[in-house]
Amino acid sequence: MSTFKALLATQEGGNFRASIQDIPRESLPPGEVSVRVRYSSLNYKDGLAVTGRPGVIRRFPMVCGIDFAGVVEESASPEFKPGDAVALTGAGASETIWGGYAQYARWNAQTLVPLPPGISLKQAMAIGTAGFTAMQCVMALERHGVSHQLSPAREGGVRGGDVVVTGASGGVGSIAIAILGKLGIRAIASTGRPELGDYLRSLGASGIIDRSELSAASGRALERERWNGAIDTVGGTTLAGLLPCIAANRAIALCGLAGGAVFTTTVMPFILRGVSLLGINSVYVTPQERREVWDRLSRDLPLDLLDSMTEVAPLDRVIELGKRILEGKIRGRVVIDVGEGGL
Ligand code: NDP
Repeated sequence: MSTFKALLATQEGGNFRASIQDIPRESLPPGEVSVRVRYSSLNYKDGLAVTGRPGVIRRFPMVCGIDFAGVVEESASPEFKPGDAVALTGAGASETIWGGYAQYARWNAQTLVPLPPGISLKQAMAIGTAGFTAMQCVMALERHGVSHQLSPAREGGVRGGDVVVTGASGGVGSIAIAILGKLGIRAIASTGRPELGDYLRSLGASGIIDRSELSAASGRALERERWNGAIDTVGGTTLAGLLPCIAANRAIALCGLAGGAVFTTTVMPFILRGVSLLGINSVYVTPQERREVWDRLSRDLPLDLLDSMTEVAPLDRVIELGKRILEGKIRGRVVIDVGEGGL
């Protein structure tokens, strides 16, 4: 009987456990496409899942890992053939369907994305859910009128300004900064780690601010219109501090809660300035949008910068690294090498 290695989470009698196990290939869930996984990645959500925090895994036993990239081994779908390089991000992996911390996965074709030319399996996982989400945020701001051109002066008002990225040294933040830089949009990195200033500038940040500057809101409903837009991975008091400072008719793309899920605000930024809060979700995405986002990533994310923000770690370090990402101690992206053994 052939087996493959995977990080399996179990819960028995209320006791959570995650460990690397040899799993029979016959145990894989049904699906059209069998993929020999080569790399996965580490996201904040993976940190929650592998340390047993509630809210991610909804079915046990579960193979953790919300992303994977690998090569198609068998396909019952005309969309893919053996040998194709594919990636999967989100889509319920590690929630209800077995995910990517494994040497093998089986999925339906519509959630898989063929890798755009020029992007390697490792780079696809350096992107992963974090990069996918960063691109979604940028695209949402673009739809809302943020571009490299300054927004036209509105009557009696100020001109646009910069786009601020919160949680800038993390996975979503680092990739968002690299994309904005490539697009010629001035990105200001908000971070609690000023020692990473050189790193953030190397990715394309035009300026660095301390995260306390954003969350230390004056309590006023409206402040000086400081930002042409924001990508917020932090939420909580940071989001509350951002809203009064967004320029009229501009928006915040909100994807994360690294700093907290609850925030208090007033209606004033919305009704007096027409500010919009754009919710970003990377899991429930149509197949067409998935491909559009990957297509944009292949054009607008400089791969040399992606490589410079990425480290590679083996599968047996995932739990340790999962704890570190929850503590806000990971810089950029971590690719998980699941190894070529097994099978
Ligand atoms: P990372 O841990 O890599 O990045 C989060 C960053 O937030 C940290 O690097 C740190 O940046 C900052 N941060 C951490 N803790 C705090 C805190 N207590 N207060 C303020 N800032 C803090 O995570 P990811 O980039 O993978 O994910 C970022 C967020 O986005 C997470 O909340 C995640 O759940 C969410 N997310 C949501 C998705 C969706 O579909 N909506 C998809 C992907 C991610 P620094 O040190 O620079 O301040």
